Amino acid sequence: MKITVSKEDYLKAIAEAEAEGEPVIAATLAKWLGVSPPAVTMSTRRLKRDGLIEADPGGHLRLTGEGRKIADRILNRHHLIERMLVEVFGMEWYKVHDEAERLEHAVSEDFEKLLVRKLGDGAACPHGNQAEVYPPAERRRRGWTTLDEARAGGALEVVSVYERDRKLLEFLDGIALRPGASLELVARNYDDTISFRVGGRMSQLSSAVARKVWVKPA
Ligand SMILES: [Zn+2]
Repeated sequence: MKITVSKEDYLKAIAEAEAEGEPVIAATLAKWLGVSPPAVTMSTRRLKRDGLIEADPGGHLRLTGEGRKIADRILNRHHLIERMLVEVFGMEWYKVHDEAERLEHAVSEDFEKLLVRKLGDGAACPHGNQAEVYPPAERRRRGWTTLDEARAGGALEVVSVYERDRKLLEFLDGIALRPGASLELVARNYDDTISFRVGGRMSQLSSAVARKVWVKPA
């Protein structure tokens, strides 16, 4: 449980929930940020007053242009911190999201420039996500699918994984299912699991977990 949830956290959560294709309502934010619904109500009221978000009559929240600018800036910093931790310090890829959640708020513009100079622009984060978040429709347009929907037979490559769930990341790491890994979907089973070969080994996943992994034809 976080002690304080900043304006930046809210705006970033709205941008990310959009990118995951989840309806962005107060309940989604409460779940994502680990805060109570009344706290969300209070904060979203303030964000609306500041012109950073808008709500439709159904309670769906949307970033305004100004709100999106702040969310993009913090997402970009999150992304750079994750890359720094893996590429410069060799931290395990499944640990860096949590670390970046804390550090992203402390990055100054100067430090951000140095990070870009050191790491270069445009690469994906250690979870395979781009600094600009692509909604599911955009990913499908690029020919990516979630692993539960992939066709059996034929080589696949992991593009990205859902990064907000540390236990999921550790689990995937344990079966060598990481961004860039090649795999082959072998069978779709009657019990709603899939069988696949990755790193020379057979593994199985429930479709609920497979849905959190994006793949493309290798
Ligand atoms: Zn990431």
